[in-house]
Amino acid sequence: MDIENLDEKLSTVKTNPDTQSHLIPDEDSCIRCEEKSCIYVCPASVYKWNTEEKKLIVSYENCLECGACRIACDKQMLVWKYPNASFGITYKQG
Ligand code: SF4
Ligand code: SF4
Repeated sequence: MDIENLDEKLSTVKTNPDTQSHLIPDEDSCIRCEEKSCIYVCPASVYKWNTEEKKLIVSYENCLECGACRIACDKQMLVWKYPNASFGITYKQG
């Protein structure tokens, strides 16, 4: 899928973010993680590495709930769950 089509697809979803993240990486493990695969597999650019703070920034409100990061984190250092009921992604009509 090219970027143009991906943007088109992403425009068909909207999110109702919870007040707390449903994606909780283990900060110490992320510092030691060389691959940082979560950053590269996420289609919604949820993860960004802050070099100065040595911290994974998680924009959970943009999550599409696809589960790719859970699989990609081969150290299993990412607590992943669905958002609480009535929160998370919904699909726009039409
Ligand atoms: S792949 Fe896992 S351990 Fe590595 S930065 Fe991402 S969440 Fe952290
Ligand atoms: S579940 Fe999918 S969209 Fe959400 S953070 Fe992980 S890879 Fe990104």
